[in-house]
Amino acid sequence: MTRIALLGSTGSIGTQTLEVVRRYPDRLRAVLLTGHSNWEVLAAQILEFGPDDAVLSDPKHFDRLKEAVGSTRTRLHTGDGTIAALVRDTDCETVLNSLVGFAGFGPTFAALDSGKRVALANKESLVVGGAVLQPWLGLDAMRVLPVDSEHSAILQCLVGEGLESVEKLVVTASGGPFRTWSAERIARATTADALKHPNWSMGSKITIDSSTLMNKGLEVIEAYWMFGLPLERIEAVVHPQSIIHSFVHFRDGSVKAQLGTPDMRVPIQYALSWPERWESDSPRLDWSAMGDLTFEPVDTARFPCFRLAMESVAAGGYAPAVLNAANEEAVYRFLRGEIAYIRIPEVVERCLSTLSFGSEVTVDGLWNADGETRRLASSL
Ligand code: NAD
Ligand code: MG
Repeated sequence: MTRIALLGSTGSIGTQTLEVVRRYPDRLRAVLLTGHSNWEVLAAQILEFGPDDAVLSDPKHFDRLKEAVGSTRTRLHTGDGTIAALVRDTDCETVLNSLVGFAGFGPTFAALDSGKRVALANKESLVVGGAVLQPWLGLDAMRVLPVDSEHSAILQCLVGEGLESVEKLVVTASGGPFRTWSAERIARATTADALKHPNWSMGSKITIDSSTLMNKGLEVIEAYWMFGLPLERIEAVVHPQSIIHSFVHFRDGSVKAQLGTPDMRVPIQYALSWPERWESDSPRLDWSAMGDLTFEPVDTARFPCFRLAMESVAAGGYAPAVLNAANEEAVYRFLRGEIAYIRIPEVVERCLSTLSFGSEVTVDGLWNADGETRRLASSL
């Protein structure tokens, strides 16, 4: 029985993780569940899964949560910082982190620092803090297992291989809803346009990041830290069908790829079953219905966020933390209708060109960089 702390259980990855837990009641037990403000979904999850602890991090509706769950054995908590503290104290093997944004970093650090394994959906943890998480990363440590489908694909291709045999990693991208749009049309995109992802149904922040290709930039940085290969040996390619989830090229000229229908429950379950592979009722690939698999280069002229992400990781220090915070602010301002779509890369670029990055990254320094960037990004 694996005891799991599930952070962000009310979100897209969180609810799909609970579908996997529901499928394997004899192998997986959710001992900690967390949501931010969605008290109704969290209350239903508490009643169904009976965790030891549950957190509603935004205190606004905490009373309604308490009322909805009534008398229960689950201890209920609220407030900032509660999640990271509980992650340290909870008796569990695995922390599945499906929080969104920089809010996920502290809990990832707490989990690793207190000896747990992390099944990581929260790619922002590695983007901002890869440098301080490095001792726990890589194929030797195996303390961080990918939930992101591309990184799960790479891990699956690397089973039985050594990193010294790898020539390069190729991360695939769907291209998002604006893949075929002109720059002029993209500039006028509305929130409804940007929230229409062709292949995946996900939380709003990652859906916008997929439309700007910032998500693919974050994923290249995630792969860089997770697998420890030089940046020049990690590429992205647009593959609109989202059937091939990534490739690994080896030094003898062989290439491995992992394929499957777009269903996040597969990489979620693999992160929990690794190194085993368990049965799943996920939809199967059907060759007769599949059609062509096509590939295109990433167009950084129309999708400058990808270029900015690559520039930030090359600059090093706090630059990826600045990129991430600026992007989070810009995306939420766009979703609230405060800025036009075209301003998202502009806000990120202004923050990267205004703020300085240092070279030595510390945990405390990450909070300063994040806060300073958000202040600037919200004033632009
Ligand atoms: P989501 O918005 O659906 O869910 C986010 C979860 O985090 C929710 O439970 C929410 O209550 C909680 N949360 C939000 N803000 C919080 C805060 N400030 N403090 C504490 N909790 C907070 O997002 P998602 O689509 O499930 O994505 C989660 C993470 O997984 C992201 O990092 C995303 O990039 C990554 N990811 C998602 C998918 C996908 O298919 N959805 C695929 C790959 C990677
Ligand atoms: Mg992904």
